[in-house]
Formats: sequence, structure tokens, C-alpha cells
Amino acid sequence: MEFATFADRAGTIEAEPADLEVVAHVRDLLEAAADGSGRAADDGDPRTVEIVARFVQGRVFPAWDSTTLDIGPTTCYEAIARAAGTNVDADDVEDRLAEIGEIGDVAASYDFGGQQGLGAFTGGGDSDALTVREVYETLTELAAAEGSGSQDRKIDLLFGLFNRCSSAEARYLARLVLSEMRIGVGEGTVRDATADAFDVPVEHVERALQVSNDYGEVARIADEAGVDGLDAMDLEIGRPVQAMLAQAGTVTDAIEEWDAAAVEWKYDGARIQLHHDPTADGAETRVFSRNMEEVTDALPEVVEFAAETLDVPTILDGEVVAVDEAGDPLPFQEVLKRFRRKHDVAKAREEVTVRPVFFDCLHADGADLLGEPLTSRHERLEAVLTDAADADPEPVEGLSLLWLTDDPDEIESIDADALEAGHEGIMLKDPESTYSPGRRGKHWRKRKPDVETLDCVVTGAEWGEGRRATYLGTFELSVRDGDELETVGKVATGITDEKLAELTELLEPHIAAEEGQAVELEPAVVFEVGYEEIQTSPTYSAGYALRFPRFVGVRHDKAPADADTLERVESLQSS
Ligand code: AMP
Repeated sequence: MEFATFADRAGTIEAEPADLEVVAHVRDLLEAAADGSGRAADDGDPRTVEIVARFVQGRVFPAWDSTTLDIGPTTCYEAIARAAGTNVDADDVEDRLAEIGEIGDVAASYDFGGQQGLGAFTGGGDSDALTVREVYETLTELAAAEGSGSQDRKIDLLFGLFNRCSSAEARYLARLVLSEMRIGVGEGTVRDATADAFDVPVEHVERALQVSNDYGEVARIADEAGVDGLDAMDLEIGRPVQAMLAQAGTVTDAIEEWDAAAVEWKYDGARIQLHHDPTADGAETRVFSRNMEEVTDALPEVVEFAAETLDVPTILDGEVVAVDEAGDPLPFQEVLKRFRRKHDVAKAREEVTVRPVFFDCLHADGADLLGEPLTSRHERLEAVLTDAADADPEPVEGLSLLWLTDDPDEIESIDADALEAGHEGIMLKDPESTYSPGRRGKHWRKRKPDVETLDCVVTGAEWGEGRRATYLGTFELSVRDGDELETVGKVATGITDEKLAELTELLEPHIAAEEGQAVELEPAVVFEVGYEEIQTSPTYSAGYALRFPRFVGVRHDKAPADADTLERVESLQSS
């Protein structure tokens, strides 16, 4: 396919306001790129349809491939200026950009061709027409240029391309090179267009995209082998997939929507995807960031962990956390000192130690697990992290623990333990959910931090049972209403034994009456409490109840007269 044809169709797509029509145009473009003539002209790999499926999204390389052109705007302006003639320099291009506002339009505003130094474009004859494949090959060569003189080499190669461009071609070449295609074609458009062009169901295209992370390859296989070809596509070790993402959510929603929630600690580090193949020559281990950038060299601890622990080919999803000498987590800022580091890694390692914690397993020993429920994937994860040769296998370090529960109290205490251990809080996951790469769905929820807290007077408590018989617990919380105090809830969970002992000591002198285990307290102590939401409720005298109240701390600086009011509760409830 000539690059002029691509540019012409890109122009049509850009001018099209209706989404459905855009899909139809992209479908036509893919069909044209895949048709017999295109195929016959391509005797190498990749095929034109593959390149076009990427170009149309402004990509040169597959989404999993972290290769970049490494061309800054200035390099691009320089190449445009050279192709535009001796009277034009990069400053002139920048001036036009300031005036016109968009690099594609700027490139299109020049008259290219006929500059000396590379096969000058004469304006006639098909043999001189730039093809999509030539553009791709030149950009691949350009991306590979390294070392001293590489910027000049890049400018030369780019100049060679612009020099053969019509104004329409130059518009889209400039945008492609700067990754700003801006013709309104997103990932969903290419997915739908691929399904239409090659007559395959869109769900199969979607799955193939998830495992391969390459729109180009999916378009080519859909064309060559249809739905069976797509279904046969698998994850590949060394080719990162998009990470599944979480949205904010509450315990209330999680236990209402799912039979039980899978609860995990939320580690405060940086997301990693580990690809390990011990069967490869010399074992292959690669680590990718959440954006699929390769970070292997920056994290030797993760590579060593893989070598020591994993006996089968695996793709694991997890978090890399900075830890202190005792192995306790350090704040996120510390991991950043290591995460993308390219130089002096050994020195940085002496200052900050990192360790991986894995919470998901996408592939184990030849089996892709994306379609399996979370609980099965977690079992596989545990199995691959456990030394099978050990007679009494203990899960090794690096496994994120998972609790299955529908009990809000248990969730509270997992949350409290997580915070106590220095982690960020908890994640709530649907135990039945499959792994959806790139999706920010409801299946994974990070528990929302408290938006607001309330300062409540402690007006009652209960003596505990068993081990906690000498401690006061289940504290009754009240807010002020004029001179009165009205109850709004009870906070019981998420408090450690140590803290309970401290609170008992603080409250015991204020016991006004006791009946059985119940204790009435004179107003003296103020607790700061977090909560998920406020509901109207007949259970408490205020007429409202705090859902999932959490003990945050004692407000030693506040007297009952400074506690929050019923009015504030009302306004928070309606906000
Ligand atoms: P956020 O970055 O606030 O959107 O939270 C989601 C991120 O939390 C994920 O991308 C992971 O990097 C991180 N995370 C920490 N612990 C877990 C866990 N147990 N499960 C999933 N993600 C986790």
C-alpha cells in the first residue's frame, strides 16, 4: 500500500464526525491493506495490514514493545526544515507551529521534494511512491540507531522520508513520528474494525488483543486464519500484557455484590509484571512496569528472586516494595529511587532494598490463566511460589496473602493489620473474576480512604470476652445536639490489643454505671473515627448510623464540648 493511500484515508477518517462511520472507514482501510495486491507486494514480515493497524492508532511498534523512535520534536522540526528547502530552518518550523498550532498542519504547509542528498522525489512515476512498508522499515532503522552520531542518522533518515512526501503524507508522517495521530481512532475502533474487516466475532478479537497486546498481529491473524487463528493466540513469555486495574470502592459494595470478598493487603510500591522462563537458554527473566516499560536491569533482586524460586515458565503480577533491614515496608518514594534507574544500580541497591510481592498468576507452566477465576489463579500462584521439593512446603516469601470472607468485622481487622504492618490498606476483589488486562473494572477495588472523619464522644463501652475480658471494647459513639449527646454508632473492630489496653486505662475512671458487660461512660474522651457512609437509622438516638466506623485515634486535644454535632452528621449524610 502506498503511504499516499494511507494518508488519504487518514484524512477521510479525521474529517468524519460519526463514530460508526469511523469504524467503517478503518475497516475499509484494513481490508485494503490486507487485500491480494497488498499481500503479494509483501514477501517479508510484517505484512502491510499489520503495520496499518498500528499506524492508524499512531503507533509504529506493537503495544507490548517498549522500542521507541526516540525522536524529540526538535529532531523532527530539523528533518522537516531540511526537506522543505535551503531557505527553511528548524526555527522557521517552530514559528509556523506557534502560528498554526499543530505539527501535521505545519508539515503539510511546506512543499517537499527535490532536496539533494537522497533519491529526490520527482513527483511522477509509481516507483518513487513511498509505501507504508518503506515508512515502517525506515522508522525501524531509525529506532535502532544508537550511540554517537545517532541523532544525525535519525535526522537523515527522517529527512529522506519527508523529502518524498506530498503535503498530505507529510501531515500524517509528522504526527506518526511524534505519536500524535489525532484522527479519532482509539483502541476500541481498531478492535471493532478488525472484527468487521475479517468477519470474526468481536469477543474473539478482544481476547486475542488481551493476550497478544498487538493490534497489528491480531489484524494479520484475523485475516489469515480467522477465528480459529485468533483463539489459538496465547500469552508469550517476554511480551507484557496490560495490567488489570482497580477502582475505588467500599466494603459495603463488595459484600453486597459478591458472595464473599477476596481481601488482600494493598502494598505501597510499584506495579511489576514478571516474565520468567527457566527452560530458556540461560533462563530468561524480564520485569515490566505497569506501562509495560522494561525495568529488569533496575531490579536485580526480582531477577534473583525468580531464579531462586520459580521452576516453571511463569508470568506473575505484583508489586515491588522498598523495605528496611527488618523487611518492613518503606514509603513509596523509596521504591522510586530504584524503579527506573538505568545507571549505578548496584550503588542504589546498597541504599534501598526492594522485594517483590506477587498477587496474581497469568501463566504457569504452559497454561494461560486469564480466563480462570481469581481464587484458582491465586492457588496456582501459591503453588509456583512454593518449593515442591520441600517435604513440608511453606509458601515462600513473595506471596500476597488472600482472605475469603463476607464478614465486615474480619475485613476491618485485616485492614487494621495491613495498616499496622505499614501497608496502604486493603484491596477487595471479586473471587470469581477473570483477569481483564487494561481494565479498570469493578472486580478489583481499592478501599477508599476515609473522605472525612468525625470526632465523637465515647458514651459507652462493653467489657470484652475471653482474652479481652479485662479490656473495654465496642465503644459507643455520640455527637452533640445542643446540650444533649445522641448516639450514632459503635466502633469495635480494627483496634489492636495493645491499643485496647491503653483505651481501657483512659476510660475506666469515667465509668458511670455498669450492667452485665455493658458500661455507661460519662462524657470525657473524644475519638476520631472514619466511616464508609452515613445512613439514616432507627437504631441510634441521633437517627443516623455510621457504616463501618473505624477507630482513627483519641483526640486528646478535644473535650466533649468540641466534638462534632448532629448538624454536621446531617450535612455529611446529604453531601
Ligand atoms: P492505585 O494505584 O491507587 O490505582 O491502586 C492500584 C494499584 O495498587 C495497583 O496497580 C498495584 O500497583 C497496587 N497494589 C498493591 N497491592 C495490590 C494487590 N494486593 N492487588 C492489586 N493491586 C495492588
